[in-house]
Amino acid sequence: MAVTGALFIGSSRVKKSETFFASNPATGEKLEPGFSAAGPEEIERACTLAWEAFHVYREHDPELRARFLETAADQIMALGDELLERANAETGLPIARLTGERARTVGQLRLFATELRTGGWMGIRIDPALPGRKPLPRVDLRLRKIPLGPVVVFGASNFPLAFSVAGADTASALAAGCPVIVKGHSAHPGTADLVAQALTEAEEICKVPEGVFSLLNGNSRALGSGLVAHPHVKAVGFTGSRTGGLALVKIASGRPEPIPVYAEMSSINPVVLLPGALSTRAEALGKEFVASLTMGVGQFCTNPGLIFALEGPDLEKFTASAAAALGDVAPATMLTAGIHASYEKGVEKLLGHSRVKAIARGAESKGLHCGRGALFSIAAEDVIKHPEVLEEVFGASSLIVRCASEKQLIDTLEHLEGQLTATLHLTDDDLSIASRLLPTLERKAGRVLANGWPTGVEVTHAMVHGGPFPATSDSRSTSVGTLAIERFLRPVCYQDFPDSLLPAPLRREAPKRPHRYDGVYKA
Ligand code: NAP
Repeated sequence: MAVTGALFIGSSRVKKSETFFASNPATGEKLEPGFSAAGPEEIERACTLAWEAFHVYREHDPELRARFLETAADQIMALGDELLERANAETGLPIARLTGERARTVGQLRLFATELRTGGWMGIRIDPALPGRKPLPRVDLRLRKIPLGPVVVFGASNFPLAFSVAGADTASALAAGCPVIVKGHSAHPGTADLVAQALTEAEEICKVPEGVFSLLNGNSRALGSGLVAHPHVKAVGFTGSRTGGLALVKIASGRPEPIPVYAEMSSINPVVLLPGALSTRAEALGKEFVASLTMGVGQFCTNPGLIFALEGPDLEKFTASAAAALGDVAPATMLTAGIHASYEKGVEKLLGHSRVKAIARGAESKGLHCGRGALFSIAAEDVIKHPEVLEEVFGASSLIVRCASEKQLIDTLEHLEGQLTATLHLTDDDLSIASRLLPTLERKAGRVLANGWPTGVEVTHAMVHGGPFPATSDSRSTSVGTLAIERFLRPVCYQDFPDSLLPAPLRREAPKRPHRYDGVYKA
């Protein structure tokens, strides 16, 4: 399948004279073809089609939506190597990594299909009428969750497949019954184009109403802001920079009808090495840490950007082991020239900071836009005085915080902003200190790990990929895993409705689905 360069607006493919190009971050070479850039007319058309489609799609049998998601997964696989090769050229990510990411992408589409078939996501609650209740009878109350309406999804630069056109936000919104308009990331428009072809093919096979999916590529701020401001749009999913996420939150909350924005933005993912763990495996921890830090050139939102430990010879052993391991890591191409430049700027800032000590750098490289690992250390008391050292440096840069006491460790953790993850490395001897740290860590992060590394996010039912601000703009949800569907649903209660008027799943003789009956959970 060839990359079209078109905008995907419902079933139409629209070409415009105004175009932009992708470039290969490893070579700087311009990649053909030119891509049409969407303007106000295309925003209006895509949003109107999505709004019209919503009224039909939202009441679709969940089985049809499940088949649509499964067909989309099949069609993505049918794109074959061409998809991986285009994504590789546009992002510099290796084919092996992209192959894994494609498996995750189709896996999450299929997982949402399975979730749809359980019916649990409808959140059904039934409080039957109590006509004999004294002093007043109770009315009959029935609740189900319904979709919010069209959702705008911003493709992420660091996951061209799993967090882009058919990624986690799209899968959860489509499963919920919401049409999706994707604002493609300007760094990988060809990858987006190919996946959009797979999705539109699936729409046709499954006879999904036109407008349930559109892709608008473009490289202007006006495109993203125009979509978020459009009255037919009812929610937004975003992964990217703090500046970008906050700009969109501002637009969404300033609308005549404010709407939720689920923005995943900035996280530095603290890892605490407790004394027992450090005394038994300092060297191994140093190597494991560097493997996690440098995976994907550090371009994961769950990258371990901060290490905490008590000062002493064990921490020195860990630091020496990490420094040696980092020196052996060859730099690799970062996703875009801009991301590379902002990484370099962040590392330079730490190198020039009076309180920060440079520990090690990754091996040198002459390659274009290569991110060279960087490891620093700082005394905990200086972190509190210089909070600027805690700003996210997106890439393989990390800071070791040396603590003089347990109290200082807890006090410094208290100074952290919200995080996607927080990790403890411990042995049985550390259980007591770990239990004192835990209340702080769970207040700060969406996922708390023991004896692992935060990179690598499972797509399951119990996963939380979220956390307090600025990890996300709304800590009450997750963008990975089946719970993500909740972001695009809202509850409606039907009081004293006759069966004939009730939505099918709430009727008295409806097939059994998980529900609460008079407060009691029923399968
Ligand atoms: P970005 O600049 O925030 O862009 C993400 C998407 O939002 C793009 O589609 C972009 O449009 C759009 N956008 C950004 N600002 C906007 C605004 N003010 N109004 C309307 N639309 C806007 O993120 P990025 O390009 O992926 O990477 C830049 C930086 O983001 C990185 O250096 C890193 O610091 C951070 N980042 C963080 C994570 C994370 O998970 N924590 C992931 C990726 C990136 P265009 O395509 O037209 O630029």
